[in-house]
Amino acid sequence: MSVTVTDCLFCRIVAGEIPADKVHETDTVVAFRDITPRAKVHSLVIPKEHHESLAELATAAPGLVADVFAAAGEVAAKEGVAQTGYRLVSNVGEDGGQEVAHVHVHVLGAQSMGPVGV
Ligand code: 5GP
Repeated sequence: MSVTVTDCLFCRIVAGEIPADKVHETDTVVAFRDITPRAKVHSLVIPKEHHESLAELATAAPGLVADVFAAAGEVAAKEGVAQTGYRLVSNVGEDGGQEVAHVHVHVLGAQSMGPVGV
């Protein structure tokens, strides 16, 4: 089953209505570079199906959680940071700093991340 929300920015990227610099794609997920990179490597991994947050995805479609994290590893390898290390972040909700209500995991790397900040 494919769920698309027409006014969702990331659903529109999945549909090809908004261009994105894709780095990885499977039947279920796509990864593309963040438009405002906060690290030398900064991509976003999303399920193609619309789910609001990682918390919602874990309940509704746990298999997609696995697909997203497997893809994050592929992105790290393609971006050359699999050996040096990288950070995965998924903001959930308002206090979590989530701006786009389509679940996404940030892949950040190619520089030292330091401790997790707030
Ligand atoms: P959030 O704050 O929801 O965790 O992350 C949303 C991310 O989406 C931000 O890092 C932001 O820079 C990125 N973003 C917002 N609009 C676009 C866009 O149109 N294209 C791409 N590639 N990234 C976007």
